[in-house]
Amino acid sequence: MINSPIQKKYFQNQTIYIKRDDLLSKEFSGNKARKFAYFLNHDFPKVKQIVSYGSNQSNAMYSLSVLAKLKAWKFEYYVTHIPDYLEQNPHGNYKYALENGMQLIVEDEKPLKKRVENKEVLFIEEGGREAYAEYGLQKLVQEIEAWQKEQGFEFINIFLPAGTGTTALYLQKNSKNKVYTVPCVGDEIYLKEQFKMLEDNEVFYPRIIRPSKKRHFGKLYRESYNIWLKLQANMGIEFDLLYDAHGWLTLLENPHIFEKPVLYIHQGGLIGNESMLARYKRKYDENI
Ligand SMILES: *Cc1c(COP(=O)(O)O)cnc(C)c1O
Repeated sequence: MINSPIQKKYFQNQTIYIKRDDLLSKEFSGNKARKFAYFLNHDFPKVKQIVSYGSNQSNAMYSLSVLAKLKAWKFEYYVTHIPDYLEQNPHGNYKYALENGMQLIVEDEKPLKKRVENKEVLFIEEGGREAYAEYGLQKLVQEIEAWQKEQGFEFINIFLPAGTGTTALYLQKNSKNKVYTVPCVGDEIYLKEQFKMLEDNEVFYPRIIRPSKKRHFGKLYRESYNIWLKLQANMGIEFDLLYDAHGWLTLLENPHIFEKPVLYIHQGGLIGNESMLARYKRKYDENI
């Protein structure tokens, strides 16, 4: 995997550095590329298939379909439902994962690790919330700290929005800098529970910033769409609509984070924008 660039940008009177993990590769980008790097860089002669589960438009699902294709493994993915509209009009991560050969299984219950795991099956928790993710995230920390030294920054503040929190946790655990994150899926209690599944020692936990407004994951908010449009217009960077919009709104509400140079981690996920953007355009574009 190549190093991703770090770019200096200005936004709303703040200087901010962006780690462009969205540029890692077209097929395998963002934090999922980091989380699954362990599997790309090692051989698993016994493994024949991946089993995982989660939402029907998940970025992790798409990245796993790419991994399975590269490794010539089967890929079974469990969802609890597929909306009729999506089934009839496949788009976004769902469409491309199916094109990569994913076998979708609709079942109320998620598959249990102990039920499916044997030497031929690689079972992966929702969103890649697994300890092996640390391998690729250590590489991310090394890239960040090499850049930091070049810039002469003794300490920086790292900011990134969280789903399972796996990326933020392993960044904090391996970095001398402070890592700030904001929960996008549940609340702070949920996010801490996610950390706990991977790491008992709280000294390794990132700082959790509470958003000023509760936003439900996957729901549409005018201010989220507005900040996303503004970021794109001012920086020329397309961010993700699910996590980054909420992330940026929360970061900008917390100027104390800018007391040190801020590095924002762009975690990719742009294929997911295809479905989100269509929804936003339908909802807001006529009266923006
Ligand atoms: C998966 C994903 C996240 C959440 O990552 P976690 O490690 O689960 O916290 C954030 N942003 C984007 C774009 C993602 O695809």
